[in-house]
Amino acid sequence: MRVVLLGPPGAGKGTQAQVIAGRLGVPAISTGDIFRANVSGQTELGKQAKSYMDAGDLVPDEITVAMVKDRLAETDAKGGFLLDGFPRTIAQGEQLRGSLQELGHHLDCVLELVVDEDELVRRLSGRRMLVDGEWVQRDDDKPETVRHRLEVYREQTAPLSGFYASEGLLAQIDAIGSIEEVTARAMAALERPGQSDDS
Ligand code: ADP
Repeated sequence: MRVVLLGPPGAGKGTQAQVIAGRLGVPAISTGDIFRANVSGQTELGKQAKSYMDAGDLVPDEITVAMVKDRLAETDAKGGFLLDGFPRTIAQGEQLRGSLQELGHHLDCVLELVVDEDELVRRLSGRRMLVDGEWVQRDDDKPETVRHRLEVYREQTAPLSGFYASEGLLAQIDAIGSIEEVTARAMAALERPGQSDDS
């Protein structure tokens, strides 16, 4: 299966991506994780991406699209994948469609995790990640950057919801609840793509 996970920062995409990809037996590919690994490894790509990430802005499409294309060409992604954090602009969505078409593939479903904005701000400001045994706040989870990331999401990424709805691929799911509840809704939606969850 070829699935895209869509949703604002703080919706729980990273967590759900791991669990759902595991159930589907496909790799979870997170552009945020790939960028962060490149920043810590101080690679050329990391150097290019860092200033955008720290500001809560999107890394330019040329850099991101090329990176995803390379990642999707790897062997483990040939039979399917779950993309987390890509596409994030309509242009990236069009590029993805084009790259898949070249390979004779297409997306099966776009899962959108829906959470209201007050809950997102609450989750992001309290979020910590484990790095070398210590819980640290991500640089871009600081309150002012969080607000900016939500704005960027609203302006640049949210339109993808309509883009995929018009292709009949969108399944919106309520992402408030326990991890298991949200996973169950996601798995149910994957069995009936193109319909929204009304619960
Ligand atoms: P979140 O979903 O919590 O905002 P991510 O880990 O997905 O976090 O992304 C972190 C940062 O990485 C983004 O704010 C952005 O700077 C960069 N990034 C990730 N994916 C993309 C993308 N598809 N296009 C452009 N920038 C991206």
